[in-house]
Amino acid sequence: MTFKPFAIAMAMCASAFAFEAAAEGTVGISMPTKSSARWISDGNSMVEQFTAAGYDTDLQYAEDDIPNQLAQIENMITKGVNVLVIAAIDGTTLSNALENAAAADIKVIAYDRLIRDSGNVDYYATFDNFKVGVQQATSLVNGLKERFPDVKPWNVELFGGSPDDNNAYFFYDGAMSVLQPMIDAGDIAIPSGQMGIDTVGTLRWDGAVAQSRMDNLLSANYTDKQVQGVLSPYDGLSIGILSSLKGVGYGSGDLKMPIVSGQDAEVPSVKSILAGEQYSTVFKDTRELARVTVGMVDAMLKGGEPEINDTTTYDNGVKVVPSYLLEPVSVDATNWEEILIGSGYYTKDQIQ
Ligand code: BGC
Repeated sequence: MTFKPFAIAMAMCASAFAFEAAAEGTVGISMPTKSSARWISDGNSMVEQFTAAGYDTDLQYAEDDIPNQLAQIENMITKGVNVLVIAAIDGTTLSNALENAAAADIKVIAYDRLIRDSGNVDYYATFDNFKVGVQQATSLVNGLKERFPDVKPWNVELFGGSPDDNNAYFFYDGAMSVLQPMIDAGDIAIPSGQMGIDTVGTLRWDGAVAQSRMDNLLSANYTDKQVQGVLSPYDGLSIGILSSLKGVGYGSGDLKMPIVSGQDAEVPSVKSILAGEQYSTVFKDTRELARVTVGMVDAMLKGGEPEINDTTTYDNGVKVVPSYLLEPVSVDATNWEEILIGSGYYTKDQIQ
């Protein structure tokens, strides 16, 4: 009991420090997980760029645990941040927290992933997610033509992202806009018959889950035939899928490695592309996403107009969230150096 006044005094001191340090304001940055390198790059780029613009930051990772992310966000609200930048684990779980944010006059930016079912989302900074899916499928089809010119139909299996991530639907729909007409025309077969994001989705984007689903697909459907392509929406899944394929002999002897797509240009996947295993990935420059986000925050806090280029696509169930969509870039063995090294995203040493 005797410690209580001391604790309160310390808490007041701590919050006073938090405000003193921030000339322009404090930004709470809530990221989903450190288990994927892209979110680490996002966090680092934002801290770097917000700091350069005169902001204080509070960067937290929730390790893909929803209650953990909620607690981190509530804590940021209590500490009195001016803005929340959130990449949600489950885009549907934040409505109550964001009501508290609105009551405290805290602005909210949905970062990369749309926050659903809440009117308290001011802006959305992301990539053209439908186009990501189009690029994944286009690259898959190009790879099929190149590696399996004499096969018809090509046997393909589909993987989706996490069904609680709005992006997963956009990636899948974008990919199917390319693949469905080819399925209808008989150029592509799906021997498992498994289609639709609810069937092919991968909860929490977990590579181990994708690997065991691929194991099951192979043992149930491919004892008498070969698979030529796998639509994978994220590098972490692609690595799991490739392990499964290699486990039954693909990539050696007569079993050519199937074409496997990906996303995020993570280092293990770029190395895999150079080793002739993963076929492609999609590069999304997280430094650019951070730049757009810092610009939005700066405009909001200083009374300007944040830059947006889309006011129709991202309906979150309550409102259409004004968005800025960046361009994704398809990367394979032919252009990785120009895109990933040329842009300074990686050094050559990190890859080779
Ligand atoms: C992101 C992707 C990422 C995936 C898994 C999605 O919301 O847009 O870039 O691959 O989450 O982390």
